[in-house]
Amino acid sequence: MTIPSLEIDLDKECSKCSEEGVTKSGLCLKCIAQVYKNRTIGYQVIQQAQVEICAMLEEYAEDIDKAYIKADNDLTIPISIKLGPTRIAGEVELIVASNFVKDRIKYKIKVVVDSKQKKLPGF
Ligand SMILES: [Zn+2]
Repeated sequence: MTIPSLEIDLDKECSKCSEEGVTKSGLCLKCIAQVYKNRTIGYQVIQQAQVEICAMLEEYAEDIDKAYIKADNDLTIPISIKLGPTRIAGEVELIVASNFVKDRIKYKIKVVVDSKQKKLPGF
């Protein structure tokens, strides 16, 4: 069993605030705490993901239809949503992507959403 541990290098300075003592990420504990504090997904992000997925399905409706006709059996359309922080607190980078076989259609859209507006119910 491995014991969770945290290494702090007291000789290095935090890349964000120049405070001495950093973890492997290059940030001090105070800055890491700040990152996690701002790590939230507002309802705006979910709404934007819905918009982007709908737009993608609309855009490729004809191709999806053709791919379905061509498919021997089922047609799977993988859709991925990737969420990541930006350098601005409260902003979330949203990437909606899909990649399915018809003529090897690849779709990818990247938007930045301000998550500070409304929180998800129960968050
Ligand atoms: Zn710091």
